[in-house]
Amino acid sequence: MSPLPEGPQETSAKRPRLSTPPGRLIVLSGPSGVGKDTVLQELFRIAPWLHYSISYTTRPPRPGEVDGVAYSFVDDAGFEALREGHALLEYAEVHGHWYGTGEARVRESLDRGEDIVLKIDVQGAAWIRPRVPGAIFIFLLPPSPEELHRRLTERATESADSLELRWENARTELADQGWYDYRVVNDDVRRAAREILEIIERGRPRADQP
Ligand code: 5GP
Repeated sequence: MSPLPEGPQETSAKRPRLSTPPGRLIVLSGPSGVGKDTVLQELFRIAPWLHYSISYTTRPPRPGEVDGVAYSFVDDAGFEALREGHALLEYAEVHGHWYGTGEARVRESLDRGEDIVLKIDVQGAAWIRPRVPGAIFIFLLPPSPEELHRRLTERATESADSLELRWENARTELADQGWYDYRVVNDDVRRAAREILEIIERGRPRADQP
């Protein structure tokens, strides 16, 4: 994975910081194959009042993926335009593709007092952490590294190369979990979703929150 590019760092000083109250920003990360999408699906089933930030990505849609549902799919030029136009709260290159969070949607949700969930990688989460006080950072863990490798291998959507890259990235992501506020083990989808909801409802501020 590459480090965060220059764009947001250069421009962020000129922009006001996002403030979470009254809405809360919930950041969920975890390695590829850990089951973030399935757990989020269950989370939104049991807590339909939560909102979701649909990311932009240059990754091609997988079979069955509809534009504007899981992601807004854009080409490189489209992503560059978003980046240049400062439309992204954060962005990162993951598995050889660009991913980014649209800032306007997040800001509007928070201003309306809505809790909004971001599913982003550790680079994006690390970028947001010092800039959004009160955001809740949750890392989803596999029951074991072996189980994660098994799940990744079973994923029919990935080519052999991509699988290798995702396994390498998964190991890097796992190594980066230390600073997250909460770690949730996805041993059971419904249990993990309930635990995440409890964390959100508890809304415990971080120790380092100003
Ligand atoms: P996938 O292509 O499997 O849906 O997602 C690959 C990775 O990209 C996941 O780790 C996911 O969390 C991350 N990701 C998805 N959207 C964003 C985003 O907007 N920003 C960042 N930084 N990572 C994202």
